Amino acid sequence: MTAKIINGKMYAAELRGKVADAVHRLARDRGIVPGLAVVLVGDNPASQIYVGSKKKMTVAAGMRSFDHALPEHTSEAELLKLIGRLNTDPVVSGILVQLPLPRHIDAQKILAAIDPAKDVDGFHPVNAGRLATGLPALVPCTPLGCIMLAKTAQPALEGLDAVVVGRSNIVGKPLVQLLLRENATVTIAHSKTRDLPAVCRRADLLFAAIGRAETIRGDWVKPGAVVIDVGINRVAVDGKTRIVGDVAFAEAAQVAGAITPVPGGVGPMTIACLMLNTLRAACALANVPVPEF
Ligand code: NAP
Repeated sequence: MTAKIINGKMYAAELRGKVADAVHRLARDRGIVPGLAVVLVGDNPASQIYVGSKKKMTVAAGMRSFDHALPEHTSEAELLKLIGRLNTDPVVSGILVQLPLPRHIDAQKILAAIDPAKDVDGFHPVNAGRLATGLPALVPCTPLGCIMLAKTAQPALEGLDAVVVGRSNIVGKPLVQLLLRENATVTIAHSKTRDLPAVCRRADLLFAAIGRAETIRGDWVKPGAVVIDVGINRVAVDGKTRIVGDVAFAEAAQVAGAITPVPGGVGPMTIACLMLNTLRAACALANVPVPEF
């Protein structure tokens, strides 16, 4: 079998287009323009690239982008003060604090200071709790994108066996909650899981969020399964750096029914979902119906 390649770039462009249309209608009909404040502390080159593309996509979707680039030595108190100002600023619908933060700043404290209604990353404990209890919530962008991509290959997830490898707060755990919402039967695996290959082989839907290059091999994949690879790993090949996922793509693509590539799979969907969350936050804050996609 040769898997269908799930083109994340294409689905992300489609989603961003739908968001841009909804933003246009919101501005035209109600005079509301969503705004995203992006806070970057320090000069981590990868973070600078992520923040740059988030800003570009925000503007392309017709939303306002507010840029807060702070020096590495910014204190926790200064950052909390900025968050406080953004929380009460009516033109700001969404606040994103780019992680990782410098070591002297407690990231949990910062994330918890963001108004949950503006928490477009969905990392605030209130949003995590709302998601886990089945209440409307701002949901972390990467897991949201993973579900959307899985559904392009398998529109109804109900009753399917899903395995999520990785239990981080930003990917694995919220992904499990979203899969439960879809009525999938979910197993969450991690570094202490016994016989991971056997666990993965049970999966109709296999999600890899591990952070270790090509951990999941072709013979771990159930024939016909949908494989969603969240991993972004830089590896050296012939003196050059290449980005690979957590799944051995060439092997897995021989067995899976559908698979996301890395790059060009989950990554672009994450930013598109950030645009969607900013639109949703702006609608909820203004008490207008939140568009469904
Ligand atoms: P993380 O916080 O480091 O969590 C990794 C998880 O993988 C942990 O739960 C860990 O288990 C588990 N794990 C580690 N080694 C394992 C092994 N050998 N077998 C089974 N499980 C193992 O990572 P994360 O933030 O969730 O990110 C995961 C990957 O996704 C990274 O490559 C990251 O760059 C990428 N990512 C991509 C996007 C995107 O937009 N595409 C967004 C976010 C993250 P324990 O809990 O037992 O330690």
